[in-house]
Amino acid sequence: MLLFKRIADLKKYLQTQKSTGKSIGFAPTMGALHEGHLSLIKRTKEENDCSVCSIFVNPTQFNEASDLEKYPQTPEKDIDLLISVGCDVLFMPNPEEVYPKGQLSDLKLDFGNLDKVMEGEHRPGHFEGVAQVVNRLLEIVEPDRLYMGQKDFQQFTIIQRMLVLTNSNTYLRVCPIVREEHGLAMSSRNVLLSPVLRKRAALIYETLSETKENMHALFPNQLKAIAFEKLNVPHFKPEYFEIIEGQTLMPIEVLEDVDYAVACVAVWVDGVRLIDNIILKKE
Ligand code: AMP
Repeated sequence: MLLFKRIADLKKYLQTQKSTGKSIGFAPTMGALHEGHLSLIKRTKEENDCSVCSIFVNPTQFNEASDLEKYPQTPEKDIDLLISVGCDVLFMPNPEEVYPKGQLSDLKLDFGNLDKVMEGEHRPGHFEGVAQVVNRLLEIVEPDRLYMGQKDFQQFTIIQRMLVLTNSNTYLRVCPIVREEHGLAMSSRNVLLSPVLRKRAALIYETLSETKENMHALFPNQLKAIAFEKLNVPHFKPEYFEIIEGQTLMPIEVLEDVDYAVACVAVWVDGVRLIDNIILKKE
């Protein structure tokens, strides 16, 4: 695996790859890698000649300084994991390299409702930062295919819209959620939980699964109320539980009215913010 810290060196290398007709698959990450991230890298390898991963803890997408400070960083372990799955290129820039003119974004895209609800409502400025960094990384890597996880449902929906709005030639591939043994969606933040709460956090997936089981018997607002109550236990603080249409992210009143429905949730577990989702139906 080749490791690049500088944009100019990475671009030069990728240009030679492209000039010999090789396709590029790219998975951007913030590091502290786990099996979820590695599933993305494995897909980049299956579907492209050259797999590129980036590790960059993007300061502009953190709406709370303390969240950025405690975000786990394990660069040596990450490098070993990427080598173990055969990643070809790792890009690990520092913030000055990514944002030479400072961190203010000059990218202004209108995402309509997509960045206003759920994460957008609770994490002001978050998606502006995400769009800024993904756009910047796409300018640098110019991949044929971009790989993102279903785990961050709203994020990939917004990036898909961004690719359309910017007339990008890059295709988005969305990879399924990889879960821990008890069902908790893998996340870099899971290491911040105590072992007991990490196991108990399986309650989030249990709640999503129950919602799916009951979806024909109850209305979305009833499902939502039951889920909220189930998640409202000691050490847990549900922030939102929404049942939304999968493309517009608008709340659904009657499931039979739509072809694509998703339940999305954010829960604080002992000060650690976890998100997850389940596709209820996609016709
Ligand atoms: P992050 O490092 O959290 O910014 O995540 C980088 C990419 O990995 C994003 O596209 C995430 O959606 C994806 N990802 C994170 N966790 C998982 C998971 N458990 N399963 C699948 N993809 C994931």
